[in-house]
Amino acid sequence: MGIAVVGGGIGGLCLAHGLRKAGVDVVVYERDRSRTDRLQGYRVHINPHGAAALRECLPAANWERFERTAGRTGGDGFGFLTERLTRLLVLDPEVENHYSASRITLRQVLLDGLDVRFGKRFERYSEGDGITLHFADGTTETCDVLVGADGIRSRVRGQYLPHAGTEDAGVAAIAGKLFLDEHDWVPSALTVRANSIVPTGRAGMFLAVHDGLGVTDADGLLFDNERPYLMWAFAAAGLTVHDGLDLRAEVLRRIARWSPDLRRIVANSPEETISQWHIRSARVIDRWEPSRVTLLGDAIHAMTPMRGIGANVALRDAQLLARVLGGGGDPVEAIGRYEAEMYTYGFAAVRDSLRAARQFADGNPVARTVFKTVLRTASALPALKRAMFAG
Ligand SMILES: Cc1cc2nc3c(=O)[nH]c(=O)nc-3n(C[C@H](O)[C@H](O)[C@H](O)COP(=O)(O)OP(=O)(O)OC[C@H]3O[C@@H](n4cnc5c(N)ncnc54)[C@H](O)[C@@H]3O)c2cc1C
Repeated sequence: MGIAVVGGGIGGLCLAHGLRKAGVDVVVYERDRSRTDRLQGYRVHINPHGAAALRECLPAANWERFERTAGRTGGDGFGFLTERLTRLLVLDPEVENHYSASRITLRQVLLDGLDVRFGKRFERYSEGDGITLHFADGTTETCDVLVGADGIRSRVRGQYLPHAGTEDAGVAAIAGKLFLDEHDWVPSALTVRANSIVPTGRAGMFLAVHDGLGVTDADGLLFDNERPYLMWAFAAAGLTVHDGLDLRAEVLRRIARWSPDLRRIVANSPEETISQWHIRSARVIDRWEPSRVTLLGDAIHAMTPMRGIGANVALRDAQLLARVLGGGGDPVEAIGRYEAEMYTYGFAAVRDSLRAARQFADGNPVARTVFKTVLRTASALPALKRAMFAG
């Protein structure tokens, strides 16, 4: 059986490793021209589900490299802070099986040892005895099973399940970037890890460090075409963005009582980096009949970034799909088992992340206070923290 995976992102590459381990013939087709195209320096939080999937699917050497580098280049976990930058809770890599991985390094770890055909922009497929893939460069390839792992704007999904897709999450956000090579005053709590600001009022801010592509990964690969920066995204109740709105002034007005450092970050972010974010979330559709075409990750259940679990759910898909397809037997029946399970947890994660996006922007003040108390208590009691974040 020959399996084609369209999309060499986190989910597609993990799946390819899992299938390879099971002795299945698999090829990944990726639109990027090379393994260093469009590298993103964001750190990604890998939770126990994602870590278990990577451990199971990757060859031992790749997994060891992931573990070695996740702590070292990946920064220091994920934090919850008040609007005055008081620490509520830090989810650190010491909490078992939580990792903070550099996307650059993770991508290198995932690419090693796989047959990835770069420069292959998938356009459509046609079905006969097998499945024929048609690429933008005019070439075709055939396979027995097609997996669309081509992200939020998936072309495989567009053809296979045209009624699926994404819709506006109804949460407007304003985002910007502060270049860290020009500003050395930023508190280290904001530069060593990603953070969510949990204020008392009906608003939220997410901040994540972009390492810049001047970092060296475990094998000494050096990328130097981008500057390090701190990305921030602000959302609030009643925030509507429209042409002509002074986005920076709007954020500064709404965070007038927040920490001076947060205001300074917004005030010093160059104009051209400040933009509106339209947060999207997958449309929840009814179950469909399984076939020799299937989907994983953002291609089927794209979710708002407010729970930070999209990549982890994509990894979970990869693990499950590798298990069922690697187990032999009828591929359509195997895909049916995968889709039954994936549909349940995948769309549950979509709903959960949508709720989190709405709470992030417009949290009920009472619920906020309870949430902060829970975070503070967990921070003070390591055993509770471990128990809370174990799954
Ligand atoms: C700011 C931000 C922070 C986030 N933080 C986290 C986090 O901490 N933890 C977490 O779990 N998730 C996080 N996420 C979500 C996570 O990044 C995604 O859910 C995850 O990358 C999805 O993986 P995927 O493999 O499904 O798709 P992708 O990673 O998007 O990969 C899709 C691949 O398909 C390729 N492709 C697309 N179209 C074609 C085509 N036509 N032909 C061939 N190839 C194609 C693309 O080039 C890409 O390589 C975050 C998202 C954002 C925006």
